[in-house]
Amino acid sequence: MPDKADRDQIRRQNRSIILQALRRDGPLARIELGQITGLSPATVTSITADLLDQELIEGFESTEAKEQTSRGRPRSLLKLKSGAAFVVCIRLSIQRLELSLVDYSGEIAGELNADFDDGELTSDTTARVLIDLVADLLTRAKVTTSAVREIGLVAQGAVEVETGTIIWSPAIEGRNTAIVEPLQRVFSANCHVSNDTNMITEALHWSDPERYGNTFVVLLLDYGVGMGLFLDGKLFSGMNGKAAEFGHSNHAPDGAICLCGKKGCYEAYLSRSALSQVAPPDPNCEVSRFQAAIDMAAEGKAEALAHFRQAGHVLGFGLARIIALIDPARIVLTGSSTKAMPFMEDGLKAGLASGLIDDLNQNYEIDVAPWDQNYIMRGMAAQAMRRLDLDFKGPGK
Ligand SMILES: [Zn+2]
Repeated sequence: MPDKADRDQIRRQNRSIILQALRRDGPLARIELGQITGLSPATVTSITADLLDQELIEGFESTEAKEQTSRGRPRSLLKLKSGAAFVVCIRLSIQRLELSLVDYSGEIAGELNADFDDGELTSDTTARVLIDLVADLLTRAKVTTSAVREIGLVAQGAVEVETGTIIWSPAIEGRNTAIVEPLQRVFSANCHVSNDTNMITEALHWSDPERYGNTFVVLLLDYGVGMGLFLDGKLFSGMNGKAAEFGHSNHAPDGAICLCGKKGCYEAYLSRSALSQVAPPDPNCEVSRFQAAIDMAAEGKAEALAHFRQAGHVLGFGLARIIALIDPARIVLTGSSTKAMPFMEDGLKAGLASGLIDDLNQNYEIDVAPWDQNYIMRGMAAQAMRRLDLDFKGPGK
C-alpha cells in the first residue's frame, strides 16, 4: 500500500486531471468525468466534493433537452468557476507587447496590446512598463490584483527561467532584464518567464493530448530556430531552463557563420535569413526576401530548388540526431518558415535516411503544423493553469 506522501501526490495529480478535463471539455456530469479521466466513480465523487467546498467548481442542473436523462430529468453538471482565479499571459516581440487575461475556466477575460518604437524598451524600463500594462489590463477587466494567481511572460530571444530574466532579446535594448522579481514585488501572483517554442509545445499537447502523446518534439522554424521537448508526459527544460538549444548546436564544424558568432550552427543554415539567401537582398524587409525565395522555387528556378533541398538535407541530419537520442513518437515542424517545406521535403528525407540507421528510421511521424501565432499565448495559459491546478486551494486561500 502506498504511504501517505505517495497517496497525497496521487490525489494532487488526480485533482489536476479533473480540473483540466473540466477546463477542456466542461461542463461535464460526474459519470463523464470518470469516462474521460479513467478515474473511479469514488475518486471522482471525493475530489469533486473537495473542489465544490473550495469554490473552484460549481454544480448546476441542465434543462436542455439533449442534456436530459432518459427519464426526462435535468442532468447535474459540473463546471469551473470562471472567477475563482485569473492568469495573465504576456508576449514580448519586436516593438510590441501583447497581454491576455485568462479566467479560471480558460476563457479570455481581457486583452491589451501596446506598440513601441525601436529602443524604447530597455533593460531598465521594461519591468516598469510591464507593471503598468498589467495594472491597466486588470482595471479595464474589473479584476482585482489579488485574483491574479499566475503571470507568465514569453520573450523573443533567450530567457533564463531560474532567475526570471531575459538574457537578451531583439525587443529590448541592453541585456539581463529582470522580469520576475519586479513583477512579483507588485503582484502577489507566481511569475514565470518562458521560451516561445516551449509554449508552442505546451499548446499542442493541451489541444490534443492523444495525438501528441507523452514524447514529442517541436521545431520552430521562424526568424531563428527553436526546439521544444515534451518527454515522458511533461515539458523538459533541463537544469537551468536552457535545454533543447538545437538552433545553436553544431551541424558542420567550421561551417557557415551564424549570427551567434560561432560557425556551423543549424541556425546558420535554417534561419529565415539563411533560407532567404538565394533571393536578391531586400534592404527593407527580410520577410519579403524570404517570400521572393519561395516564389523562385515555386517558379522552378534551379538555384532556389537546390538551395531549399540543401537546407532540407541539413534539417534531416539534425532531426536524425534528435530521433536517435530520444526516440520521439512525433516531430512537429511549425513557424513561418515552414512555407518552404514543400521544397525542403526531398532533402529532409534524404538527410534522415543518411543520418539514421534503418532500425531507427521508422516509428515516428513528422507533422507540418500550420503556423498560428496564438499557439504561444495558449501554451502560456495552459502552463500557468497546470501549475495552478496542482496547488491552488481556492479563492481567499
Ligand atoms: Zn549559432
